[in-house]
Amino acid sequence: MPQPQIEEKVRSFLLTLSRTLGVRIERVLDLYLYATPDKVRIVELVERGGEIAGIRLAVRSEKKPDVWYYTAVGYYGAKCTCEGNTIGGKICKHIIIGVITWNMTSLLKQGKEIDLTKLTWLHTGEKEI
Ligand SMILES: [Zn+2]
Repeated sequence: MPQPQIEEKVRSFLLTLSRTLGVRIERVLDLYLYATPDKVRIVELVERGGEIAGIRLAVRSEKKPDVWYYTAVGYYGAKCTCEGNTIGGKICKHIIIGVITWNMTSLLKQGKEIDLTKLTWLHTGEKEI
């Protein structure tokens, strides 16, 4: 049964992500639960050397439901069209939703998690989550 194994992997990934970001696990869980098909759409998977090296997605705004932000995350960086990122240069919640979606996709498609220690920008960047 692969299902419980995946659940365990997701759980430990979310815990590691919360520690890496220095935010409460509840906040990371909120973002994980936000990633449903009516709010988050994968635009493109960037595949390189047999692995998913990044992802582009559209995330619906929480406050303005008719607004979608376009977000790209990968090993070398992340970008988002929201104000927090374009003006403030901060790592926003859409980027974190992108990281969570990227990991889920990689896990489900290739049975492989993304390596958070390789995302140096995630460790050093200023957050607004
Ligand atoms: Zn954003």
